[in-house]
Amino acid sequence: MTDTENYYKEKRVDHNVTQCKNCSGEKGICHDGCAYGNGEEKQNCGIMNSSGSCNNCKCHWSSHVNSNIVFVPATRNVTYDVAHLKK
Ligand SMILES: [Zn+2]
Ligand SMILES: [Zn+2]
Ligand SMILES: [Zn+2]
Repeated sequence: MTDTENYYKEKRVDHNVTQCKNCSGEKGICHDGCAYGNGEEKQNCGIMNSSGSCNNCKCHWSSHVNSNIVFVPATRNVTYDVAHLKK
């Protein structure tokens, strides 16, 4: 039998995206199109407030990573091994 499941698909983009390591999925994408790299300079990211916390998810800037890989929600077909399920 087959079914669909929701998962997060890895997607490479041509700009940096600020993502939170503590938060997942769409909430974990805090800032799309970031001008900063993944070093300490990302504390200057526009989504971080004056106390160094993220305005989107409230986590500290150091919990974030800047990369050009984002995770977008998607669905995929999964095939269940029925014999295995009966075990
Ligand atoms: Zn940013
Ligand atoms: Zn955040
Ligand atoms: Zn967070």
